[in-house]
Amino acid sequence: MTENYRPTKAVIDLGAIEKNLASFKKGLGNTEIMAVVKADAYGHGVLEVAKRAVDMGIKLLAVATPDEALFLRTNGFQEKLLVMGASPASFVPVAQQQEIALAAISLDWLATASAAQNPEFLPLKVHLKIDTGMRRVGVDAADAEAAIAEIRRHSLAFEGIFTHFATADEESGELFERQVKRMKEIIGLIDDPEVLVHVSNSAASLMHPDLAYGAVRIGISMYGIAPSAYVEEKMPFSLVPAMSLETEIVHIKKVKAGEAISYGGTYCCEEDEWIATLPIGYADGMLRGLQGQDVLVRGERAQIVGRICMDQCMIRVPEKLPVGEKVQLFGKQGKEEIRINEWADKLGTIPYEIPCILTKRVPRLYV
Ligand code: PLP
Repeated sequence: MTENYRPTKAVIDLGAIEKNLASFKKGLGNTEIMAVVKADAYGHGVLEVAKRAVDMGIKLLAVATPDEALFLRTNGFQEKLLVMGASPASFVPVAQQQEIALAAISLDWLATASAAQNPEFLPLKVHLKIDTGMRRVGVDAADAEAAIAEIRRHSLAFEGIFTHFATADEESGELFERQVKRMKEIIGLIDDPEVLVHVSNSAASLMHPDLAYGAVRIGISMYGIAPSAYVEEKMPFSLVPAMSLETEIVHIKKVKAGEAISYGGTYCCEEDEWIATLPIGYADGMLRGLQGQDVLVRGERAQIVGRICMDQCMIRVPEKLPVGEKVQLFGKQGKEEIRINEWADKLGTIPYEIPCILTKRVPRLYV
């Protein structure tokens, strides 16, 4: 067993994930949820998250890469698995053997993947990815009919068809409408009810229930994070954040007025100040851009002062606090809360990035 002698940890509330999935489930009728657990379940820990999702009845899991899918299979997950990104031909026989569905991302990919099959195994399962406007991977909408014909000609197992929206987290505009229109035309070409149609991510599921089809792919919102401020304002239910980040004071000292804190001396104490050291730094994902961000100590906000170091950072506190005092970096403490969105705003990014940038050195504790 690995011991954690450092008090810094990300606490993952699996009950929150369950609640968020249950909130989605309620409005979905016969539509299945495909739980998106790529990137180590957005930094939350794929094995624990996938297990909780499966335990509550989720039958479909989606990842981004072949290795992520294989990791789930080798850890005993028997559910339907989809690799949403590009898979190389060398993975095709493995995918056949492990019954992992791959995204068919172009006509060329279909030809290469068909040729790479091992005839001893069941035919490769594919979900046809249509590029309706995202311009990332996918068969151009104009080639959809040809791609469907290729899947049938090569006797691949045609398990699903999907697209991905570029602007579902904003007010619907021309691009979103164009993507929907293109996809609806293509869905009209499929006469087989066994082919699973899935087009919606979290934002589209929350904002456009009419686009639920056979399944919805829920990522960010199962972790309790709204895809955007726009969606958060309009979404039909609230979400419960699953991840919080905490540590403890490991050192405290009174620093005299006029003295500077940390590398570069960018912060200078205006008066005699209590400065506490926290064992978390940019090698944990607490990026230097978070200098000046608040943390919570004893239910009150305290500021990070001076440059964030690789493994440590300093905060200014109003009084002498004991070593071992709990500090919440994001999450709730008492009546106060620091949301992941606050970190994202400070870093000039989207909340998606925050759980993903917490490095492996931060242990995940499951509650
Ligand atoms: N579908 C695809 C193809 C994706 O790439 C992603 C994530 O980026 C998702 C679904 C899940 O999106 P979200 O996390 O916004 O729910």
